[in-house]
Amino acid sequence: MVDLQGQYAGIKQRVDQTIANVLESAAFINGPEVHAFQKELEDYLDVKHVIPCANGTDALQIAMMGLGLQPGDEVITADFTFAATVEVIALLHLTPVLVDVDPINFNIDIEAVKKAITPKTKAIVPVHLFGQVANMDALMELAEAHDLFVIEDNAQGIGATYTGKDGKKRKAGTIGHVASTSFFPSKNLGCYGDGGAIFTNDDALAHTIRGIVNHGMYVRYHHDVVGVNSRLDSIQAGVLRAKLPHLDTYNQARQDAARKYTAAFVNEEKIITPIICDKCDCHVFHQYTLRVVDTDRDALVKHLQEHDIPCGVYYPIPLHLQKAYTDERYNEADFPVTNALVKDVISLPMHTELEDDQIEFITKTVIDFVNQ
Ligand SMILES: *Cc1c(COP(=O)(O)O)cnc(C)c1O
Repeated sequence: MVDLQGQYAGIKQRVDQTIANVLESAAFINGPEVHAFQKELEDYLDVKHVIPCANGTDALQIAMMGLGLQPGDEVITADFTFAATVEVIALLHLTPVLVDVDPINFNIDIEAVKKAITPKTKAIVPVHLFGQVANMDALMELAEAHDLFVIEDNAQGIGATYTGKDGKKRKAGTIGHVASTSFFPSKNLGCYGDGGAIFTNDDALAHTIRGIVNHGMYVRYHHDVVGVNSRLDSIQAGVLRAKLPHLDTYNQARQDAARKYTAAFVNEEKIITPIICDKCDCHVFHQYTLRVVDTDRDALVKHLQEHDIPCGVYYPIPLHLQKAYTDERYNEADFPVTNALVKDVISLPMHTELEDDQIEFITKTVIDFVNQ
């Protein structure tokens, strides 16, 4: 699904040198690499504060802790996403409220969010799923009208740009009140281990969060709030510094591959391709995900595997049907889109090193199967 060795070959010298420098300096935790990466990412995103942490799941949890959400507060998020999003809501004893998604871009459905808002609702967590920015204008309007926080789960969308109604271009993860991201190796900006970060333009919130990631300390050995231990280590920060200057090129390579996939499928009636907007960068293709119609999706998966083509089903089960997250308040009729997507989505290999002949082989194999 991803080719991290190929990408490494292009940045090997810098990465190896960086890792060697960290080993020489022995500043493994909170070293200069971490601080430098934080500044460079703030500049890249044009956001006031980046707070590095240990992974994308922690980042989400810490963002929610920083906002002071309390047990019983309702947090609305998408039914069709990776479980980390709902997991941290539940872990903090907040009440997850899962809602359906949009059939075109797979992101949280605005009408469903509207219906789910109650006096207990405190936050909405849109996920920029597969690298495509959610409808942030509508979400920010709802948030303002109902006095809610918007927490962007930007684990899959780093580097995507969103053009708001005001005509202003902003990077995904800098539009809501706070955002989280993950540097898991296969993400668009991935390190060589675990890593994550929180972004915000709110000075006071950034200060609160900086204490939370460090055991609730604002002054050494004074623990003002209950915190966690969540750090990005220096070696990972060094790897991320080597990759960040290439992030836009990496994302362009993904977009190019996506265009080629889509061009190959253009005449296929049984294949629904993701929407690609030519005028903007609001999709950075963390995944290239098709829907297949009148086709046995699981048989297609098997067929591709038999031809040594990796593929993925993200995600095979709606969160509202996962044992850990079922709730008697949910009504099947409220999740028609997610319930359909889990049966017909399939993600094809997507990374920065895809060659034309690979794309040709993959698309031909898919097309042969759906038309057999
Ligand atoms: C990867 C991912 C996370 C979690 O990130 P980790 O670094 O693996 O903890 C959270 N949300 C979404 C949507 C993700 O894709």
